[in-house]
Amino acid sequence: MIRLNNVSKIVRSGSEELTILHPLYLSIPVGQFVAVVGPSGSGKSTLLSLVAGLDYPTTGDIRLAGEYITLMKEDELARLRGAKVGFIFQSFHLIPSLTAYENILVPMEIRKVPKARERAQALLDEVGLHERGHHYPSQLSGGEQQRVAIARAFSNEPAILLADEPTGNLDSKNGAHIFDLLIKLNREHATTLLLVTHDHVLADQADRVISLNEGRIVEDRETRRAGEWESGRTAFCPPLSHSPTLPLSEEEEVA
Ligand code: ADP
Ligand code: MG
Repeated sequence: MIRLNNVSKIVRSGSEELTILHPLYLSIPVGQFVAVVGPSGSGKSTLLSLVAGLDYPTTGDIRLAGEYITLMKEDELARLRGAKVGFIFQSFHLIPSLTAYENILVPMEIRKVPKARERAQALLDEVGLHERGHHYPSQLSGGEQQRVAIARAFSNEPAILLADEPTGNLDSKNGAHIFDLLIKLNREHATTLLLVTHDHVLADQADRVISLNEGRIVEDRETRRAGEWESGRTAFCPPLSHSPTLPLSEEEEVA
């Protein structure tokens, strides 16, 4: 569950104040796959950084799985991120001096994950890179590098996965593959997935599409796909019972 209550972001540039995000309210149930669309500069990346706790809002509060991240100190936030949040960027952010396998393994070893080696190999298999573990990022295609980044993001079984234009640097075929993989992992692991894309065809495969423009939510709709999956997903993905643009009452708390 992700909840944003009256969240805004204003930055100062010189003597001017620039509103990047106007106050917004958002509630995303566990397991929902949300696509965030909107023109360049509309605030999509800012929204994701706020949800990830990589940046602080100017007003409002943000809750991830019931915890108020806006009240947390940096070390508490780092712990929560490590335990609950995965992040995938447009430009893969792999460590060039480590192999594909090591890029997945090393963060797990740092977190002292049990059986990290077996898990790293299983994740490589899961993203279809069984044979490519010993290759360095420079030896892999863009699509393959993004698969490694996805495997790494899934290594802590995050409750929440945030992906900022993960297909943005890929051609349409590779982009569609990455998208399918994210959908598969979202379904199998019941991960709440918040994904920024400017591809409306891909966005329509999400359960819900949120459109941003000039720092405001201008549209928030469930797709037909949400209905298709409803029967299998109601246990952890209740239908929206409120207008997402209105403040939420405390009775609606689910955790
Ligand atoms: P998007 O991801 O939708 O392209 P961003 O969230 O990156 O949009 O940025 C939204 C707007 O806020 C852009 O106009 C960007 O230039 C501006 N912006 C983002 N971060 C800052 C910052 N730290 N200082 C000043 N302007 C910023
Ligand atoms: Mg962006």
